Amino acid sequence: MKGFSNFLRRFMQGRYGTDKLNMTILGAGLILCLLVIFIKLPILDLVLTLLSYVLMFWALFRTFSRNTYKRYQENKKFLRFLDRIKDKEHRYFDCPRCHQPVRVPRGKGKISITCPKCKEKFIKKT
Ligand SMILES: [Zn+2]
Repeated sequence: MKGFSNFLRRFMQGRYGTDKLNMTILGAGLILCLLVIFIKLPILDLVLTLLSYVLMFWALFRTFSRNTYKRYQENKKFLRFLDRIKDKEHRYFDCPRCHQPVRVPRGKGKISITCPKCKEKFIKKT
């Protein structure tokens, strides 16, 4: 058992491991897997099975990936996306010129937004 844990430690060295995005992908894959048990439509359950495999392989790929910087960036993007969904008081837009994310209060109707980075003005409905 000691040999195996040493092997595992060496194998995982320099690899990314897991994060919130991975747990979400894996969770979605498992839920799809369970759904397939209850869905008895011939083509749909095949599609869902394939999709659940794709999701689980994706999670495995991310776990064993050596490109930790890229995986870290993906997770960061995902966490930012979650924050935006949870934030009910603001809306987020990307500046049309420099793609800087801009946060504005929700429910103010049509407003003119000035990008804090490049000062570009654009009109959006909040
Ligand atoms: Zn801008």
